Amino acid sequence: MARNARVELLYPFAAPPAFESFTEVAPGVRWLRFPLPFALNHINLYLLDDGDGWALVDTGIKSDISFDLWERHFGTTLDGKPITRLIGTHFHPDHIGCAQFLTERWKPEFLTNRTEWLTGASLQSETSASGPAQFWGDYYRGAGLDEETLAAVAHRGENYAARVGRMPRPFTHVAEGDVLSIGGRVWRAIIGTGHSPALICLYCEAEKLFISSDQVLPGISPNISVGATEPTGDPLSDFLESCQRLKALDPETYVLPMHGRPFYRLHERLDELMRHHDERLAVTLEAAKEPITIVELLPILFKRELDFQQMQFAVGEAMAHANHLVTRGDLSRIAEPGKPILYRAR
Ligand SMILES: [Zn+2]
Repeated sequence: MARNARVELLYPFAAPPAFESFTEVAPGVRWLRFPLPFALNHINLYLLDDGDGWALVDTGIKSDISFDLWERHFGTTLDGKPITRLIGTHFHPDHIGCAQFLTERWKPEFLTNRTEWLTGASLQSETSASGPAQFWGDYYRGAGLDEETLAAVAHRGENYAARVGRMPRPFTHVAEGDVLSIGGRVWRAIIGTGHSPALICLYCEAEKLFISSDQVLPGISPNISVGATEPTGDPLSDFLESCQRLKALDPETYVLPMHGRPFYRLHERLDELMRHHDERLAVTLEAAKEPITIVELLPILFKRELDFQQMQFAVGEAMAHANHLVTRGDLSRIAEPGKPILYRAR
């Protein structure tokens, strides 16, 4: 994810809650923060007061640290009430990693989008022995990685299952426009795309509250990546379209994101995100006047040193920009078996 905070957003809270504590961000809406073992070192979760129980939005990554933290919250933050509904916004491990743990413990209704459920369930069934190492090898070779780095990523396999419990079943499908009544508030589901296939955002129009999950984040640009399963995909088209659609929300909307802090100035942030991608697209197009590989694009698009995990994100993001330019008809994608893919301006 790229840092690009040029627009001054308004943050009602100067600091996040401590991991074992919470902050009430609106009446009956409790903001929790859980740690992550990545450069992006935290995720926000939201507990919505639902009268006799709580509706929880997202869960934290599967780890003993998360489980221990949940045990502490069960005894304090829940005010003695059960979690009766669990909403998984999308299939990424930091969002639904503890879903199995929480559903076994509280037996809540589990709500998510069907496409997200299927994506997560499918990735869970994969092990490095079942083939994905091959896909990832082809993918990174296509991106132009050298043989040494390829050897390192070849053993990567699919590490999704390690960070996620079993996808809970049964689940309740949440689709665009569905309405959830939680504690007297009416939340309408808005399905975002680009970061994941069908990410659930929740909008309470009466109070202009918007749980954006990873669709709109402050400070960092949501990761928009092409992966090994669908290397010709164009998730950036989907993301930019979602940004446009979200501009229909009230400009005074209070945004509750899953990373960073709650903020105001949604429209300015959406404009900034779209501008950020426009700039990246222009740089990519300029660089591809001569045929170029994804790996050759990285130092042009990312000015900072990338660690191994960031390099993997960066490859996916660079490919998302290049593929979008292919969709727009600005670039050709030249793919020959066993060779790095070349992108060239038309
Ligand atoms: Zn995500």
